[in-house]
Amino acid sequence: RAKAAGRHRFVLFDESLHVSSVNVLDLEQQMRDALEKSEFEAYFQPIVRLADGGVTGYEALIRWRHPQLGVLGPGQFLPAAEATGLIEMIDWHMYRLAFQAAPALLGRDKILNINISTGHFHSRDFPQRLLNLTAQAGVALDQLCIEVTESSLLSDPDAAAEILGRLHEAGVRIALDDFGTGYSSLSHVHRFPLRTLKIDRSFIAPLGQAAQQRSMAIVSAVLSLARSLDLNVVAEGVENTAQRDALLSMGCTHGQGFLFGRPAPLGTGASLRAGEP
Ligand code: C2E
Ligand code: MG
Ligand code: MG
Ligand code: MG
Repeated sequence: RAKAAGRHRFVLFDESLHVSSVNVLDLEQQMRDALEKSEFEAYFQPIVRLADGGVTGYEALIRWRHPQLGVLGPGQFLPAAEATGLIEMIDWHMYRLAFQAAPALLGRDKILNINISTGHFHSRDFPQRLLNLTAQAGVALDQLCIEVTESSLLSDPDAAAEILGRLHEAGVRIALDDFGTGYSSLSHVHRFPLRTLKIDRSFIAPLGQAAQQRSMAIVSAVLSLARSLDLNVVAEGVENTAQRDALLSMGCTHGQGFLFGRPAPLGTGASLRAGEP
């Protein structure tokens, strides 16, 4: 995980956990170079039906194949990308990579999920630009799902409702990511045209363990909320069969996690590439 060390420094860990403290300005320059040299890559993680493991879609997750540090996960550079405003260029670059992979990955019926940062989400031309790029790439609008976080919605709910309304009308699906970690979760979901709640993995991790009562209660509350609002649910971070079975017993239909496949580049399938974040 990248940590802000002081105000203007970020710490990067390489694969052998050597620490290099990097000035944000250096990191910004490195990210600009990385965009130019195409060092960012789209990894894909399957989203499955819990009942039979059938893949219903993929989430695109960014990786940086850094020439010195190896493959970096988003936690190591997205905070700096957000702080410097580079996130917008990086997100668009990512969407292009993900859309390139889409035909081979999705076929006719699977869904592609993409992530968006809060700052970028509220930029004026985001919906139109996304619709244009989707059309250019030949990705069907109803095969695209945008994952937004509660903080993106709640920092300016009226603007968020307008942006999401626009995309929803065009046929794009909208998922609420990391659900349960933000504030006022339950009271705000009905305001936005959501299709899916993604239950944060912090609620999934304790399932199947001795001290699971509270998490079971939270997950069932989310499931009944979703049913009454006619929303789909995806459980995040499903790592073992005990968690899957607990979810199935509560009526949760979809999941994502290492049990079903780690994020991997296109062409490797849902392979388990040990050692990569
Ligand atoms: P997220 O959208 O909630 O993505 C799920 C994260 O959980 C991913 O981390 C994934 O690798 C990880 N994960 C999946 N299954 C499991 C599991 O079974 N156990 C555990 N422990 N973890 C699991 P990752 O790839 O490091 O991404 C972290 C966050 O970075 C994402 O969280 C998302 O918020 C953000 N992100 C990733 N790609 C992009 C991007 O292209 N643009 C933007 N703006 N944000 C991105
Ligand atoms: Mg996500
Ligand atoms: Mg998530
Ligand atoms: Mg998350």
